[in-house]
Amino acid sequence: MKIEVLGCSGGIGQGLKTTTFLIDDSLLLDAGTGVELLTMERMLNIRDIIITHAHLDHIIGLPLMLATIFDLHQRPINIYALPEVISALKQHIFNWTIWPDYTVLPEERPIINMHSVNIGETLLIQKKKIEVIPAQHPTPTAGYLVSDGQHSFAFTGDSGINDALWSILNSRKPDLLIIDVSFTDESEELARLSGHLTPSLLAQQIQQLRIDPRIAITHLKPGIEDIIMQQCHQLLPQHQIDRLNHGEVINLI
Ligand SMILES: [Zn+2]
Ligand SMILES: [Zn+2]
Repeated sequence: MKIEVLGCSGGIGQGLKTTTFLIDDSLLLDAGTGVELLTMERMLNIRDIIITHAHLDHIIGLPLMLATIFDLHQRPINIYALPEVISALKQHIFNWTIWPDYTVLPEERPIINMHSVNIGETLLIQKKKIEVIPAQHPTPTAGYLVSDGQHSFAFTGDSGINDALWSILNSRKPDLLIIDVSFTDESEELARLSGHLTPSLLAQQIQQLRIDPRIAITHLKPGIEDIIMQQCHQLLPQHQIDRLNHGEVINLI
């Protein structure tokens, strides 16, 4: 399984894009500003999109991509998200004011099909098993555990303290854990309020982990990335922890 990191920042700026991962060229996991790195041909190749939550940094690429490929698309794209996320997209984005309602365009065969998913459900998409896992964030949010039968990775979505996550990881044993650590320890209150982790909160949570996957930190706020990573390395010397990087291609083989 190939994971292309098109975006993994908690903000924007030169060289920084928001959460967007492309899996095996045709499955998109979140549609942040990283979508803009794709050529038209690569956008047209996307068949399914799974979305963690409706925050703008995870969905902003979706309406823009649909408008870009609208004339050329051959087959509808499937979008999978929690029911609250689908309603939020319909109500606040595809509402004819912010953007056209692509759920009904073109009339004869709309460009997208929306599918509701629920926490605990396992989807079968492009021969991959995708488990919808719980997340803790101020708006309804899911994480996803993606498995091709040989290898797997878990993406926490945006999430703060999430006790329900760890037993799922212990039983599924993913090779890679992509986890949100947005803030430094100095900003713990802000992290708690906004539903993200700090290095210390991660260190507390990770005590529940009984396996030893590679851990990739994502969603770091611009400007404080190095401090976040220093704190992670200091607190968790026994784990294999790296920062997820823009443009990185991870091959789970
Ligand atoms: Zn969020
Ligand atoms: Zn976010």
